[in-house]
Amino acid sequence: MDLLNTLVDKGLRREVPTRDEALAVLATSDDELLDVVAAAGKVRRTWFGRRVKLNYLVNLKSGLCPEDCSYCSQRLGSKAEILKYTWLKPDDASKAAAAGVAGGAKRVCLVASGRGPTDKDVDRVSETIATIKEQNEGVEVCACLGLLNDGQAERLRAAGADAYNHNLNTSEATYGDICTTHDFSDRVETVQQAQAAGMSACSGLIAGMGETDADLVDVVFALRELDPDSVPVNFLIPFEGTPLAKEWNLTPQRCLRILAMVRFVCPDVEVRLAGGREVHLRSMQPLALHLVNSIFLGDYLTSEGQAGKDDLAMIADAGFEVEGTDTTTLPAHRREIADATEAADAAAPADADAESATVPAPSEETRRDLVAVRRRGAGTDLPPNA
Ligand code: SF4
Repeated sequence: MDLLNTLVDKGLRREVPTRDEALAVLATSDDELLDVVAAAGKVRRTWFGRRVKLNYLVNLKSGLCPEDCSYCSQRLGSKAEILKYTWLKPDDASKAAAAGVAGGAKRVCLVASGRGPTDKDVDRVSETIATIKEQNEGVEVCACLGLLNDGQAERLRAAGADAYNHNLNTSEATYGDICTTHDFSDRVETVQQAQAAGMSACSGLIAGMGETDADLVDVVFALRELDPDSVPVNFLIPFEGTPLAKEWNLTPQRCLRILAMVRFVCPDVEVRLAGGREVHLRSMQPLALHLVNSIFLGDYLTSEGQAGKDDLAMIADAGFEVEGTDTTTLPAHRREIADATEAADAAAPADADAESATVPAPSEETRRDLVAVRRRGAGTDLPPNA
């Protein structure tokens, strides 16, 4: 296919594809799927070899959020029967983190529900970061605490946070459909604050919320403009008790096309397969390793993932290897860019002049049996899954 040859060439040159090319990836047929995976896999191997970076989530504070993000089981008014607890103590968070590190995780992601941290919360998290770093040598720590106020990014950086995560989630045009308590620009601003403070920015999306192909391409192009170092791709976990509980729109094939499109648009960035991989990719998960260079090990914030040992077996069986702490994730040129642009102005928002053409998402039957609410690990007396 000419399209795939063009996309591979552009990916190897780090050149941005056109919007039409990105849309065309999403519109490929099932007959073309393995060719799409092979093409995007070539780009992935060029920049990241066969390495897979493992990340481990620690939910520092779960549920009871005042925001109304409709995809989230922790949202205002959520009836999802998730674990609810307030801030974990630094030692407990560190113990949870250590389980992930022992399982092979290189980065620990400290997440807290809520609109954003108070200054007191930043103090708490700073203490937790210090404890984790003291007890787990060489671990990278990413904080994910919501919208940041002035000065908070700098304080987190000073406390030792290597990275900050804040996802754009969906296109600017449809952001108001999934959340009314904050907007797209608030999210962009927080990512830019993290970058300006010298933290590695992590920002991604959620697919499967009823968005169009144009929306997906919009958010991925907006991410490319923002230039985070890592892009987590989540597939909606339609939790019972949330407004999107009935949105079962994804097939494994569609998930693979989305991941391939993200890889072509963000060729040299850490593309991370995040929440929903077990639910939507199921037995096709190993194919996704040809597209992404990073996954979460074990459980998610409020849902259970497959056993950590199964993640490791899958990586080995598929012919990939877990990335060690002695290897730098990003290719050398990106590290140079990061150094050179640390103080540069943040990127402009993406062109929102989107095509309206929509390829309807294939619908799939509800598979509630695949969604397991997390009942172990942080905030419980049961050992974590790592
Ligand atoms: S701000 Fe975060 S925790 Fe709160 S509803 Fe939105 S995604 Fe969920």
